[in-house]
Amino acid sequence: MSMFCFQCQEAAKGTGCTIKGVCGKDETLSAEMDKLLYLVKEISIRTTLFRSKGATICDEVNHFIVDALFATITNANFDKQAILDRIHKGEAYLDKLNKKASDFYSEEAFNSALKAYAPYKAITEISNEDMRSLKELVIYGVKGLAAYVEHAYNLDKENTDIYIFMQEAISEISRKEISVEALIALVLKTGEYGVKGMALLDEANTSRYGNPEITKVNIGVRNNPAILISGHDLKDIEELLEQTKDTGVDVYTHSEMLPAHYYPKFKQYDHFVGNYGSAWWKQREDFSSFNGPILFTTNCIVPPTENAVYRDRIYTTGSSGYPGCKHIPAREVGKTKDFSEIIEHAKRCQAPTEIETGEIIGGFAHAQVLALASQVIDAVKSGAIRKFIVMAGCDGRMNSRSYYTDFAQQLPNDTVILTAGCAKYRYHSIMTTLVI
Ligand code: SF4
Repeated sequence: MSMFCFQCQEAAKGTGCTIKGVCGKDETLSAEMDKLLYLVKEISIRTTLFRSKGATICDEVNHFIVDALFATITNANFDKQAILDRIHKGEAYLDKLNKKASDFYSEEAFNSALKAYAPYKAITEISNEDMRSLKELVIYGVKGLAAYVEHAYNLDKENTDIYIFMQEAISEISRKEISVEALIALVLKTGEYGVKGMALLDEANTSRYGNPEITKVNIGVRNNPAILISGHDLKDIEELLEQTKDTGVDVYTHSEMLPAHYYPKFKQYDHFVGNYGSAWWKQREDFSSFNGPILFTTNCIVPPTENAVYRDRIYTTGSSGYPGCKHIPAREVGKTKDFSEIIEHAKRCQAPTEIETGEIIGGFAHAQVLALASQVIDAVKSGAIRKFIVMAGCDGRMNSRSYYTDFAQQLPNDTVILTAGCAKYRYHSIMTTLVI
Protein backbone atom coordinates (compact mmCIF):
# COMPACT_ATOMS: atom_id res chain seq x y z
CA MET A 1 0.00 0.00 0.00
CA SER A 2 1.74 3.18 -1.16
CA MET A 3 -0.90 5.56 0.24
CA PHE A 4 -4.17 5.43 2.11
CA CYS A 5 -6.99 7.91 1.77
CA PHE A 6 -10.68 7.38 2.40
CA GLN A 7 -11.83 10.94 2.77
CA CYS A 8 -14.41 10.98 0.02
CA GLN A 9 -17.20 9.01 -1.53
CA GLU A 10 -15.04 8.23 -4.56
CA ALA A 11 -12.65 6.07 -2.49
CA ALA A 12 -11.57 2.99 -4.47
CA LYS A 13 -13.90 0.00 -3.94
CA GLY A 14 -15.77 2.07 -1.37
CA THR A 15 -12.99 1.48 1.17
CA GLY A 16 -9.94 3.61 0.34
CA CYS A 17 -7.45 4.63 -2.32
CA THR A 18 -4.25 2.67 -1.73
CA ILE A 19 -2.23 3.02 -4.96
CA LYS A 20 -3.49 6.23 -6.51
CA GLY A 21 -6.51 8.37 -5.74
CA VAL A 22 -9.56 7.98 -7.96
CA CYS A 23 -9.49 11.79 -7.86
CA GLY A 24 -5.97 11.86 -9.34
CA LYS A 25 -4.03 12.42 -6.09
CA ASP A 26 -0.82 10.37 -6.25
CA GLU A 27 1.18 8.82 -3.42
CA THR A 28 3.63 11.74 -3.15
CA LEU A 29 0.89 14.33 -2.91
CA SER A 30 -0.99 12.11 -0.47
CA ALA A 31 2.10 11.84 1.76
CA GLU A 32 2.64 15.61 1.59
CA MET A 33 -0.97 16.25 2.55
CA ASP A 34 -0.61 13.81 5.47
CA LYS A 35 2.48 15.72 6.57
CA LEU A 36 0.69 19.04 6.34
CA LEU A 37 -2.19 17.69 8.41
CA TYR A 38 0.28 16.29 10.94
CA LEU A 39 1.73 19.78 11.34
CA VAL A 40 -1.78 21.19 11.73
CA LYS A 41 -2.29 18.70 14.57
CA GLU A 42 1.00 19.65 16.26
CA ILE A 43 0.16 23.36 15.93
CA SER A 44 -3.41 22.89 17.18
CA ILE A 45 -2.19 21.00 20.26
CA ARG A 46 0.01 23.96 21.16
CA THR A 47 -2.55 26.69 20.41
CA THR A 48 -5.09 24.82 22.53
CA LEU A 49 -2.62 24.36 25.39
CA PHE A 50 -1.55 28.00 25.27
CA ARG A 51 -5.13 29.25 25.17
CA SER A 52 -5.84 27.26 28.32
CA LYS A 53 -3.18 29.46 29.93
CA GLY A 54 -4.80 32.66 28.67
CA ALA A 55 -2.94 33.12 25.37
CA THR A 56 -4.54 34.77 22.34
CA ILE A 57 -3.54 33.14 19.07
CA CYS A 58 -2.88 35.51 16.17
CA ASP A 59 -5.08 35.47 13.06
CA GLU A 60 -2.11 34.47 10.92
CA VAL A 61 -1.95 31.06 12.62
CA ASN A 62 -5.75 30.68 12.65
CA HIS A 63 -5.87 31.42 8.92
CA PHE A 64 -2.96 29.10 8.19
CA ILE A 65 -4.82 26.19 9.81
CA VAL A 66 -8.01 26.99 7.89
CA ASP A 67 -6.15 27.20 4.58
CA ALA A 68 -4.16 24.00 5.21
CA LEU A 69 -7.37 22.09 5.95
CA PHE A 70 -9.16 23.55 2.93
CA ALA A 71 -6.26 22.85 0.55
CA THR A 72 -6.37 19.14 1.47
CA ILE A 73 -10.04 18.53 0.70
CA THR A 74 -10.85 16.36 -2.29
CA ASN A 75 -10.22 17.89 -5.73
CA ALA A 76 -9.01 21.28 -4.49
CA ASN A 77 -5.25 21.25 -4.81
CA PHE A 78 -3.01 18.91 -6.81
CA ASP A 79 0.06 21.16 -6.76
CA LYS A 80 2.80 19.46 -4.73
CA GLN A 81 4.85 22.64 -4.56
CA ALA A 82 1.86 24.56 -3.18
CA ILE A 83 1.42 21.90 -0.46
CA LEU A 84 5.20 21.91 0.24
CA ASP A 85 5.10 25.69 0.64
CA ARG A 86 2.36 25.26 3.22
CA ILE A 87 4.44 22.59 4.98
CA HIS A 88 7.36 25.01 5.25
CA LYS A 89 5.05 27.69 6.59
CA GLY A 90 3.61 25.22 9.13
CA GLU A 91 7.10 24.21 10.29
CA ALA A 92 7.95 27.84 10.86
CA TYR A 93 4.76 28.40 12.89
CA LEU A 94 5.43 25.26 14.93
CA ASP A 95 8.94 26.45 15.65
CA LYS A 96 7.67 29.86 16.75
CA LEU A 97 5.03 28.28 18.97
CA ASN A 98 7.63 26.01 20.62
CA LYS A 99 9.73 29.07 21.35
CA LYS A 100 6.68 30.80 22.84
CA ALA A 101 5.96 27.87 25.19
CA SER A 102 8.20 29.33 27.90
CA ASP A 103 5.73 32.26 28.22
CA PHE A 104 3.17 29.81 29.61
CA TYR A 105 4.99 26.70 30.86
CA SER A 106 8.22 25.62 32.46
CA GLU A 107 10.14 23.33 30.11
CA GLU A 108 9.25 20.32 32.22
CA ALA A 109 5.54 21.21 32.42
CA PHE A 110 5.37 21.79 28.65
CA ASN A 111 7.01 18.45 27.85
CA SER A 112 4.71 16.73 30.29
CA ALA A 113 1.62 18.42 28.72
CA LEU A 114 2.75 17.29 25.25
CA LYS A 115 3.08 13.69 26.45
CA ALA A 116 -0.70 13.45 26.65
CA TYR A 117 -0.84 13.66 22.84
CA ALA A 118 0.21 11.34 20.03
CA PRO A 119 -0.81 13.00 16.76
CA TYR A 120 -0.93 10.45 13.96
CA LYS A 121 0.99 10.99 10.75
CA ALA A 122 -1.13 8.62 8.70
CA ILE A 123 -4.54 7.18 9.48
CA THR A 124 -3.19 3.64 9.08
CA GLU A 125 -1.35 4.10 12.39
CA ILE A 126 -4.69 3.63 14.18
CA SER A 127 -5.67 -0.02 14.18
CA ASN A 128 -9.07 0.28 15.88
CA GLU A 129 -11.58 0.88 13.09
CA ASP A 130 -14.05 2.81 15.23
CA MET A 131 -11.39 5.14 16.60
CA ARG A 132 -9.94 5.63 13.13
CA SER A 133 -13.27 6.46 11.56
CA LEU A 134 -14.41 8.78 14.33
CA LYS A 135 -11.14 10.71 14.32
CA GLU A 136 -11.22 11.12 10.57
CA LEU A 137 -14.88 12.11 10.68
CA VAL A 138 -13.85 15.00 12.91
CA ILE A 139 -11.06 15.92 10.48
CA TYR A 140 -13.44 15.89 7.51
CA GLY A 141 -15.95 17.93 9.50
CA VAL A 142 -13.38 20.61 10.29
CA LYS A 143 -12.20 20.57 6.67
CA GLY A 144 -15.76 21.38 5.58
CA LEU A 145 -15.91 24.04 8.27
CA ALA A 146 -12.60 25.45 6.98
CA ALA A 147 -14.18 25.90 3.54
CA TYR A 148 -17.09 27.90 5.01
CA VAL A 149 -14.98 30.10 7.25
CA GLU A 150 -12.36 30.80 4.59
CA HIS A 151 -15.05 32.12 2.26
CA ALA A 152 -16.52 34.12 5.15
CA TYR A 153 -13.24 35.76 6.14
CA ASN A 154 -12.59 36.62 2.50
CA LEU A 155 -15.73 38.73 2.98
CA ASP A 156 -14.45 40.14 6.30
CA LYS A 157 -16.68 38.00 8.54
CA GLU A 158 -14.93 35.97 11.19
CA ASN A 159 -15.82 34.19 14.39
CA THR A 160 -12.83 33.36 16.56
CA ASP A 161 -14.87 30.80 18.53
CA ILE A 162 -15.01 28.68 15.38
CA TYR A 163 -11.22 28.80 14.95
CA ILE A 164 -10.83 27.84 18.61
CA PHE A 165 -13.22 24.92 18.24
CA MET A 166 -11.45 23.66 15.11
CA GLN A 167 -8.11 23.64 16.88
CA GLU A 168 -9.53 22.08 20.04
CA ALA A 169 -11.17 19.34 18.00
CA ILE A 170 -7.94 18.58 16.13
CA SER A 171 -6.07 18.57 19.41
CA GLU A 172 -8.66 16.26 21.00
CA ILE A 173 -8.35 13.61 18.29
CA SER A 174 -4.59 13.69 18.90
CA ARG A 175 -5.00 12.96 22.61
CA LYS A 176 -3.75 9.49 23.63
CA GLU A 177 -6.50 8.81 26.14
CA ILE A 178 -9.76 9.45 24.40
CA SER A 179 -12.74 7.12 24.43
CA VAL A 180 -15.11 6.19 21.61
CA GLU A 181 -17.89 7.92 23.57
CA ALA A 182 -15.89 11.16 23.79
CA LEU A 183 -15.15 10.97 20.07
CA ILE A 184 -18.83 10.47 19.22
CA ALA A 185 -19.63 13.58 21.28
CA LEU A 186 -16.87 15.44 19.43
CA VAL A 187 -18.26 14.37 16.05
CA LEU A 188 -21.68 15.75 17.05
CA LYS A 189 -20.12 18.99 18.27
CA THR A 190 -18.25 19.27 14.97
CA GLY A 191 -21.63 19.07 13.24
CA GLU A 192 -22.97 21.86 15.48
CA TYR A 193 -20.02 24.04 14.53
CA GLY A 194 -20.57 23.14 10.89
CA VAL A 195 -23.99 24.78 11.17
CA LYS A 196 -22.41 27.82 12.88
CA GLY A 197 -19.90 28.03 10.03
CA MET A 198 -22.69 27.90 7.46
CA ALA A 199 -24.61 30.63 9.31
CA LEU A 200 -21.49 32.80 9.34
CA LEU A 201 -20.97 32.33 5.62
CA ASP A 202 -24.65 32.96 4.91
CA GLU A 203 -24.41 36.23 6.81
CA ALA A 204 -21.22 37.14 4.94
CA ASN A 205 -22.79 36.39 1.55
CA THR A 206 -26.24 37.90 2.09
CA SER A 207 -25.03 41.05 3.87
CA ARG A 208 -22.82 41.83 0.88
CA TYR A 209 -24.73 40.42 -2.08
CA GLY A 210 -28.37 40.34 -0.89
CA ASN A 211 -30.62 37.35 -0.32
CA PRO A 212 -30.74 34.82 -3.17
CA GLU A 213 -33.99 35.09 -5.11
CA ILE A 214 -35.78 32.99 -7.73
CA THR A 215 -33.76 33.37 -10.90
CA LYS A 216 -33.80 31.97 -14.41
CA VAL A 217 -30.23 31.24 -15.46
CA ASN A 218 -29.34 31.15 -19.15
CA ILE A 219 -27.48 28.01 -20.20
CA GLY A 220 -26.82 29.13 -23.77
CA VAL A 221 -23.95 31.33 -24.94
CA ARG A 222 -23.24 34.69 -26.58
CA ASN A 223 -20.74 35.44 -29.28
CA ASN A 224 -18.06 37.05 -27.08
CA PRO A 225 -14.85 35.64 -25.66
CA ALA A 226 -15.44 34.55 -22.09
CA ILE A 227 -14.11 33.33 -18.77
CA LEU A 228 -15.60 30.36 -16.95
CA ILE A 229 -15.45 30.58 -13.17
CA SER A 230 -15.82 27.52 -10.98
CA GLY A 231 -15.69 26.82 -7.24
CA HIS A 232 -17.43 28.62 -4.41
CA ASP A 233 -15.68 31.92 -3.72
CA LEU A 234 -18.09 34.83 -4.20
CA LYS A 235 -15.46 37.48 -3.49
CA ASP A 236 -13.47 36.14 -6.44
CA ILE A 237 -16.45 36.30 -8.80
CA GLU A 238 -17.28 39.80 -7.58
CA GLU A 239 -13.77 41.03 -8.39
CA LEU A 240 -13.69 39.16 -11.70
CA LEU A 241 -17.03 40.70 -12.76
CA GLU A 242 -15.82 44.15 -11.78
CA GLN A 243 -12.53 43.76 -13.68
CA THR A 244 -14.16 42.33 -16.83
CA LYS A 245 -16.74 45.14 -17.03
CA ASP A 246 -16.57 46.92 -20.41
CA THR A 247 -13.71 44.71 -21.66
CA GLY A 248 -15.82 42.72 -24.16
CA VAL A 249 -15.19 39.56 -22.13
CA ASP A 250 -18.22 37.69 -20.79
CA VAL A 251 -18.31 35.66 -17.58
CA TYR A 252 -20.08 32.31 -17.12
CA THR A 253 -20.37 30.17 -14.01
CA HIS A 254 -19.49 26.52 -13.95
CA SER A 255 -20.90 23.84 -11.63
CA GLU A 256 -20.47 24.87 -7.97
CA MET A 257 -20.50 28.58 -8.88
CA LEU A 258 -24.03 28.43 -10.39
CA PRO A 259 -25.69 29.90 -7.24
CA ALA A 260 -23.84 33.21 -7.78
CA HIS A 261 -26.60 34.04 -10.29
CA TYR A 262 -29.21 34.08 -7.53
CA TYR A 263 -27.66 36.96 -5.58
CA PRO A 264 -29.14 40.38 -6.48
CA LYS A 265 -25.76 42.13 -6.44
CA PHE A 266 -24.43 40.13 -9.39
CA LYS A 267 -27.47 40.86 -11.57
CA GLN A 268 -26.15 44.36 -12.27
CA TYR A 269 -23.47 42.93 -14.58
CA ASP A 270 -24.86 42.45 -18.07
CA HIS A 271 -21.76 40.53 -19.15
CA PHE A 272 -22.55 37.90 -16.49
CA VAL A 273 -24.17 35.72 -19.09
CA GLY A 274 -25.15 32.39 -17.56
CA ASN A 275 -23.97 28.93 -16.58
CA TYR A 276 -21.92 26.75 -18.90
CA GLY A 277 -21.65 22.99 -18.67
CA SER A 278 -22.74 20.42 -16.20
CA ALA A 279 -21.51 18.75 -13.02
CA TRP A 280 -17.85 18.96 -11.93
CA TRP A 281 -16.99 15.50 -13.21
CA LYS A 282 -17.98 16.36 -16.78
CA GLN A 283 -15.49 19.21 -16.98
CA ARG A 284 -13.14 17.53 -19.44
CA GLU A 285 -15.82 17.76 -22.14
CA ASP A 286 -17.25 21.08 -21.02
CA PHE A 287 -13.91 22.86 -20.78
CA SER A 288 -12.82 21.67 -24.22
CA SER A 289 -15.78 23.37 -25.89
CA PHE A 290 -15.77 26.46 -23.70
CA ASN A 291 -12.77 27.78 -25.65
CA GLY A 292 -11.80 30.41 -23.07
CA PRO A 293 -9.89 30.40 -19.79
CA ILE A 294 -11.27 28.67 -16.70
CA LEU A 295 -10.73 30.01 -13.20
CA PHE A 296 -10.93 27.60 -10.26
CA THR A 297 -11.57 29.48 -7.04
CA THR A 298 -11.85 26.26 -5.01
CA ASN A 299 -12.71 22.61 -5.67
CA CYS A 300 -13.55 20.60 -7.77
CA ILE A 301 -10.64 20.10 -10.18
CA VAL A 302 -10.56 17.01 -12.37
CA PRO A 303 -6.95 16.56 -13.54
CA PRO A 304 -6.82 17.33 -17.27
CA THR A 305 -5.37 14.63 -19.50
CA GLU A 306 -1.88 15.20 -20.98
CA ASN A 307 -3.35 16.24 -24.31
CA ALA A 308 -6.32 18.20 -23.02
CA VAL A 309 -6.85 21.19 -25.31
CA TYR A 310 -7.83 23.37 -22.37
CA ARG A 311 -4.80 22.55 -20.19
CA ASP A 312 -3.13 25.93 -20.73
CA ARG A 313 -6.43 27.70 -20.13
CA ILE A 314 -6.72 26.65 -16.48
CA TYR A 315 -6.05 29.17 -13.74
CA THR A 316 -6.35 28.58 -10.00
CA THR A 317 -6.59 30.87 -7.00
CA GLY A 318 -7.11 30.64 -3.23
CA SER A 319 -6.75 27.15 -1.76
CA SER A 320 -6.98 25.47 -5.16
CA GLY A 321 -3.97 24.60 -7.28
CA TYR A 322 -2.80 22.45 -10.15
CA PRO A 323 0.80 21.84 -11.27
CA GLY A 324 1.76 23.80 -14.37
CA CYS A 325 -1.31 26.04 -14.17
CA LYS A 326 -1.07 29.72 -13.42
CA HIS A 327 -2.04 30.53 -9.82
CA ILE A 328 -3.54 33.97 -9.21
CA PRO A 329 -1.97 35.19 -5.94
CA ALA A 330 -3.96 36.10 -2.82
CA ARG A 331 -5.17 39.68 -2.54
CA GLU A 332 -2.98 41.99 -0.54
CA VAL A 333 -4.59 43.82 2.37
CA GLY A 334 -6.89 46.54 1.06
CA LYS A 335 -6.43 45.48 -2.58
CA THR A 336 -8.26 43.23 -5.03
CA LYS A 337 -6.87 40.15 -6.77
CA ASP A 338 -5.35 40.89 -10.15
CA PHE A 339 -7.24 39.01 -12.86
CA SER A 340 -5.72 40.99 -15.75
CA GLU A 341 -3.74 38.04 -17.12
CA ILE A 342 -6.80 35.79 -17.39
CA ILE A 343 -8.81 38.64 -18.95
CA GLU A 344 -6.11 39.23 -21.58
CA HIS A 345 -6.01 35.48 -22.20
CA ALA A 346 -9.78 35.44 -22.76
CA LYS A 347 -9.52 38.19 -25.37
CA ARG A 348 -7.31 35.91 -27.50
CA CYS A 349 -9.84 33.06 -27.39
CA GLN A 350 -12.93 32.21 -29.40
CA ALA A 351 -16.40 32.57 -27.93
CA PRO A 352 -17.76 29.43 -26.20
CA THR A 353 -19.30 26.73 -28.38
CA GLU A 354 -22.97 26.32 -27.57
CA ILE A 355 -23.70 22.92 -26.01
CA GLU A 356 -27.26 23.55 -24.81
CA THR A 357 -29.88 26.28 -24.78
CA GLY A 358 -32.60 27.38 -22.41
CA GLU A 359 -32.73 28.23 -18.75
CA ILE A 360 -32.57 26.60 -15.36
CA ILE A 361 -34.33 27.96 -12.33
CA GLY A 362 -32.81 28.32 -8.88
CA GLY A 363 -32.45 30.67 -5.94
CA PHE A 364 -34.74 29.07 -3.38
CA ALA A 365 -32.58 29.89 -0.37
CA HIS A 366 -34.09 30.35 3.07
CA ALA A 367 -35.27 33.95 2.74
CA GLN A 368 -36.93 33.23 -0.62
CA VAL A 369 -38.61 30.08 0.68
CA LEU A 370 -39.90 31.93 3.75
CA ALA A 371 -41.23 34.72 1.52
CA LEU A 372 -43.27 32.06 -0.26
CA ALA A 373 -44.27 30.27 2.94
CA SER A 374 -47.97 31.14 2.85
CA GLN A 375 -48.38 29.86 -0.73
CA VAL A 376 -46.44 26.72 0.11
CA ILE A 377 -48.55 26.09 3.21
CA ASP A 378 -51.74 26.63 1.20
CA ALA A 379 -50.50 24.15 -1.41
CA VAL A 380 -49.78 21.59 1.32
CA LYS A 381 -53.21 22.15 2.90
CA SER A 382 -55.02 21.79 -0.40
CA GLY A 383 -53.09 18.62 -1.25
CA ALA A 384 -51.34 20.17 -4.27
CA ILE A 385 -48.04 19.36 -2.54
CA ARG A 386 -48.01 15.99 -0.83
CA LYS A 387 -44.37 15.50 0.00
CA PHE A 388 -41.02 17.30 0.07
CA ILE A 389 -37.97 15.29 -0.88
CA VAL A 390 -34.46 16.51 -0.10
CA MET A 391 -31.75 15.31 -2.49
CA ALA A 392 -28.57 17.15 -1.66
CA GLY A 393 -24.81 16.77 -1.64
CA CYS A 394 -22.12 16.22 -4.23
CA ASP A 395 -22.69 14.45 -7.49
CA GLY A 396 -20.38 11.56 -8.37
CA ARG A 397 -19.31 10.06 -11.64
CA MET A 398 -20.34 6.41 -11.22
CA ASN A 399 -23.02 5.17 -13.60
CA SER A 400 -25.06 3.94 -10.65
CA ARG A 401 -25.72 7.58 -9.79
CA SER A 402 -28.35 7.60 -12.52
CA TYR A 403 -30.45 6.28 -9.64
CA TYR A 404 -31.07 9.89 -8.59
CA THR A 405 -32.19 10.91 -12.09
CA ASP A 406 -34.51 7.88 -12.28
CA PHE A 407 -35.84 8.54 -8.80
CA ALA A 408 -36.55 12.22 -9.59
CA GLN A 409 -38.29 11.31 -12.85
CA GLN A 410 -40.52 8.77 -11.16
CA LEU A 411 -41.67 11.06 -8.36
CA PRO A 412 -45.31 12.06 -8.77
CA ASN A 413 -46.20 15.63 -9.72
CA ASP A 414 -47.42 16.52 -6.25
CA THR A 415 -43.96 16.18 -4.76
CA VAL A 416 -41.33 18.91 -4.48
CA ILE A 417 -37.59 18.26 -4.61
CA LEU A 418 -35.36 20.44 -2.50
CA THR A 419 -31.79 20.18 -3.69
CA ALA A 420 -28.42 21.69 -2.84
CA GLY A 421 -24.91 20.98 -4.01
CA CYS A 422 -24.08 19.56 -7.41
CA ALA A 423 -26.52 16.68 -6.93
CA LYS A 424 -28.87 18.99 -8.81
CA TYR A 425 -27.03 18.35 -12.07
CA ARG A 426 -28.58 14.88 -12.02
CA TYR A 427 -32.07 16.22 -12.68
CA HIS A 428 -32.33 20.00 -12.91
CA SER A 429 -32.56 20.09 -16.67
CA ILE A 430 -35.15 17.36 -17.08
CA MET A 431 -37.83 18.55 -14.74
CA THR A 432 -39.28 21.40 -12.74
CA THR A 433 -37.51 21.32 -9.45
CA LEU A 434 -36.62 23.58 -6.57
CA VAL A 435 -32.95 24.41 -6.59
CA ILE A 436 -31.49 25.99 -3.49
S1 SF4 B 1 -9.79 12.19 -1.90
FE1 SF4 B 1 -8.96 11.11 -3.71
S2 SF4 B 1 -7.50 9.68 -2.80
FE2 SF4 B 1 -8.87 10.30 -1.13
S3 SF4 B 1 -10.56 8.82 -1.12
FE3 SF4 B 1 -11.20 10.49 -2.42
S4 SF4 B 1 -10.63 9.81 -4.48
FE4 SF4 B 1 -9.45 8.56 -3.06
